[in-house]
Amino acid sequence: MNHQFIPLSVPNLKGNELEYVTHAIETEWVSTGGPYVDEFEARMADYVHSKGAISCQNGTSGLHIALQICGIQQDDEVIVPTLTFIAAINPVKYVGAEPVFMDCDHTLTLDVVKLQTFLVQECTFRDGNLINNQTQRLIKAIITVHVFGNMADMAGIMKLAAKYNLKVIEDATEALGTYYTSGPYINKYAGTIGDVGVYSFNGNKIITTGGGGMIISNNQDYLNAAKHLTTQAKSDDLYYTHDAIGYNYRMTNLQAALGLGQMEQLETFIAIKKANYEHYRQVIATIEGLELLPFREDVRPNYWFYALYLKTTYPLNRDALIKYLHSKNIQTRPIWGLISDQKPYEKNQSYQIELAKDYWKHVVNIPCSSNLTKTEVNRVLQALKYPETNRYFSKEAVPFSD
Ligand SMILES: *Cc1c(COP(=O)(O)O)cnc(C)c1O
Repeated sequence: MNHQFIPLSVPNLKGNELEYVTHAIETEWVSTGGPYVDEFEARMADYVHSKGAISCQNGTSGLHIALQICGIQQDDEVIVPTLTFIAAINPVKYVGAEPVFMDCDHTLTLDVVKLQTFLVQECTFRDGNLINNQTQRLIKAIITVHVFGNMADMAGIMKLAAKYNLKVIEDATEALGTYYTSGPYINKYAGTIGDVGVYSFNGNKIITTGGGGMIISNNQDYLNAAKHLTTQAKSDDLYYTHDAIGYNYRMTNLQAALGLGQMEQLETFIAIKKANYEHYRQVIATIEGLELLPFREDVRPNYWFYALYLKTTYPLNRDALIKYLHSKNIQTRPIWGLISDQKPYEKNQSYQIELAKDYWKHVVNIPCSSNLTKTEVNRVLQALKYPETNRYFSKEAVPFSD
């Protein structure tokens, strides 16, 4: 039987998106002016309970701006996780700074225990400045990534940041909608706890504007700076005087129209993703050698991506399983290659990277779109249950040995 293709993660645009985008076109407000941009920003700030939100072209440009408003400069250092998408790290280099790579813990996010050990043992804190003993550079900030819609240990991170005078930038590009349900940050959304947070509305994220992003802060000065820098740093609108080197990073009205339509459905998407996640998890728990990784218990996650962990007792290894599912018309993918192993970052310092290597080797992301049907989930589960032991079980495909 020729089954239909099940993609990993695709947009779901069946709400008011077409109506709003059509309205933007009919009124001829298609560029960076227009009412939808302001409305989308206000809607976002309202949803995550932040003082404000400044739209931008994508998550990457949002992170670039976030680093600048946190004062990160040439030759500074920024602590980052190695287990993430490279767009979380590249902006560090855009501002001329250097990343220092950290391991992840069992939530797939920054390991705070190792981070603390690094700060105590490998750094010197003097007169409010944190100096990296190995490089003698100033460490100024932490970028924390809420991987797959899970939440990083923000209580631990904020405590260390306060102690060592570090700014915290939350890469919440994958975690719009995730919030704490207990603890010191109860009811706080991912992206609103650090100094600056960033969301992405790329095509594979939980909501999309085609391409787009949002900078979030509770600090009005930061919000003002973000607006200024994303709109060419114009200090006078009529005479075109500029007081800094700005960027053309503002979102367009077309993108924002799409985003507003998507925002109306965000909670529905999360409910669907949760239901599919729980169905997957229940059945996967009965399959020898597989586990669907849990989200933190003290958060309401947005269930953006599902991470399937392959133990050595499962008949196929990661690459063999991906190949096998591909033959069944099911799209999956391994976790990102660790950033500390990527060519541009090979020479940067990395600190005791261990667990991230294990997850890199054993995790496969399985289909998670918000328009995924129960029938499709069952098809994926069926395939996971009965990996045929033919060619995929060949010598070359099997090894879990290194
Ligand atoms: C998607 C993503 C980004 C970048 O967002 P874009 O909108 O694609 O620029 C950054 N960091 C992480 C972790 C992401 O998943």
